[in-house]
Amino acid sequence: MKCPHCTVSIHAAWSAKSVVYQTTTTPFAYRSMMCPECSKWVIELMDSNKGGVWALVEPRAAGRGPVPPEVPGAIAADYLEACNVLPLSPKASAALSRRCLQSMLRARGYTAKDLAKEVDLLLAETDASKAIPVSLRTVVDGIRNFGNFSAHPITDLTSLQVIDVEPEEAEWCLEVLEECFDHFYVRPIQAAKRKAALDAKLAGAGKPISKG
Ligand SMILES: [Zn+2]
Repeated sequence: MKCPHCTVSIHAAWSAKSVVYQTTTTPFAYRSMMCPECSKWVIELMDSNKGGVWALVEPRAAGRGPVPPEVPGAIAADYLEACNVLPLSPKASAALSRRCLQSMLRARGYTAKDLAKEVDLLLAETDASKAIPVSLRTVVDGIRNFGNFSAHPITDLTSLQVIDVEPEEAEWCLEVLEECFDHFYVRPIQAAKRKAALDAKLAGAGKPISKG
């Protein structure tokens, strides 16, 4: 399993306990363990009245990996909030994700009447230097298949509107954001750093700087 705090793969060494109340015959059970990587506690609870599945209670939401430092603060904050509210309200999470996605697209010049059309503009990008990686194209294409995503125009007036989401839609929105972080912020900044390092090397050797 992956540690929900630090997302490192760890061996699940649960210690389980059950709690039986005098008034009921069905026990509550909980299990806990400390992550050997980050030393934080992971606690799950099973209520056999609710179908007997383990539910994460600490941390409330599984971590999805740290936000890359290249991502601007306001965008990162919306994303983190969307992650945190996911287990409590997929609708609220999806609303935050949609707003976050719209901010990123508009900052890159993909501006249209509503979010679904802005996503279309991204997919129709013809500038080779802004080519969309397959991983981003796949998740963005996926989001268009959720009926509610295209049925509700996300405009300036409705950007934080809470609308019904289909199962998996809220989580899928987070995946879209993660791919966008990589495409819009991480890769361009890393490429610029590599170019600067190359130029410094060329300059040091008395050669003209690289093109592009
Ligand atoms: Zn951990």
